[in-house]
Amino acid sequence: MGLLDGKVALIFGVANKNSIAWGVTKAFADAGATICLNYGGEPLKRRVEPLAAEVNCSVLEECDVQKDDHLDNIFQQVQAKHGKLDILVHSVAFARREDLGGRFIDISREGFAQSMDISAYSLVAMAKRAEPLMTAGGSIMSMTYYAAEKVIPDYNAMAVCKAALEIMTKYLAADMGFKGIRVNAISAGPIKTLAAAGIPGFRDLLRHFDMVAPLRNSVTPEEVGQAALFLASDMAKMITGEIMHVDAGYNVLGMTAPREELKPKDEA
Ligand code: NAP
Repeated sequence: MGLLDGKVALIFGVANKNSIAWGVTKAFADAGATICLNYGGEPLKRRVEPLAAEVNCSVLEECDVQKDDHLDNIFQQVQAKHGKLDILVHSVAFARREDLGGRFIDISREGFAQSMDISAYSLVAMAKRAEPLMTAGGSIMSMTYYAAEKVIPDYNAMAVCKAALEIMTKYLAADMGFKGIRVNAISAGPIKTLAAAGIPGFRDLLRHFDMVAPLRNSVTPEEVGQAALFLASDMAKMITGEIMHVDAGYNVLGMTAPREELKPKDEA
């Protein structure tokens, strides 16, 4: 018996096999959930279709999260096919290249508005449409990053989006709790994905993380998927409004030890 038997999950943000959303999708499918997915636009459909087939995806719809009619359509498709929704995963982010890197002070008004709309507001837009389908309660989660808490070089516009996403998680949790709907966020350590490739110096950041994170390991989409499975399941039924770090412990560090004092994992 799977942890998510009988549950319907709608997951936004599978771009390819490296996507965090794909790690989540596989974990949910293995646990017995029925999977519904979006894709960003026609050219991306071909990339997502074979992955959708691997998990017997029941609804696969184009959905640009900036478009209300796209959002209306995908939730209507879920309603028509299943009559309910139990789990919603927001794993979507975008910022223009020029708003990542360089000086923070140079973020443009247009770039800021666009990245906030796609990466943060879309969570509210989804939650509003999910609520009437979550008649037996539900679990909503999004993906955030440590740059929301502390300054990480070059995250600039995306850091502000993540800070918004984290406080929105708490407001939504307070707003939707009386319906038995839980809202949480996973703060994942850095993972090499398409979105991460847009951050200048990401490779150095990943190397630094591997060297200093208490568990001395990079995080994988599969490991984020397991944490998401916990949050989606009844094992987390009293957890809401939480920002759960899945980052090999990196966030607890106030200062990193000088390089020569760091022990690799296998010398511990
Ligand atoms: P990813 O595979 O590139 O996923 C990002 C997704 O966002 C893609 O599926 C992309 O779709 C989608 N997206 C962007 N703009 C969209 C729009 N307007 N409408 C619909 N979808 C849109 O990268 P990822 O790293 O897995 O990112 C997933 C989430 O995890 C993001 O919120 C990211 O900030 C967060 N996160 C990532 C890391 C990391 O180090 N990788 C760490 C912590 C948190 P298209 O490709 O179709 O545009």
